[in-house]
Amino acid sequence: MQTTKKHFKVIINYNYCKKCGICSWICPVDAIIEQEFGKPVVPDSEKCTGCLQCERMCPDFAISIKQIDQ
Ligand code: SF4
Ligand code: SF4
Repeated sequence: MQTTKKHFKVIINYNYCKKCGICSWICPVDAIIEQEFGKPVVPDSEKCTGCLQCERMCPDFAISIKQIDQ
């Protein structure tokens, strides 16, 4: 059986983000990492499994996950 990998884009709105570190802490696959001064970045969105934990846990509603077609 052939399985198709789903692809996701992690969108961080830096106007809302307060650099609390929750998203990088909670991401089970380390797709989100903290840069200097706590800024969350996603160097490789291919890691994202679309679990939505970061989107749900961000206290400032600064993250949205979009599934993208490939
Ligand atoms: S959880 Fe939200 S506010 Fe906190 S660092 Fe991540 S994007 Fe920013
Ligand atoms: S949706 Fe899940 S896997 Fe993707 S960045 Fe957020 S916590 Fe990580």
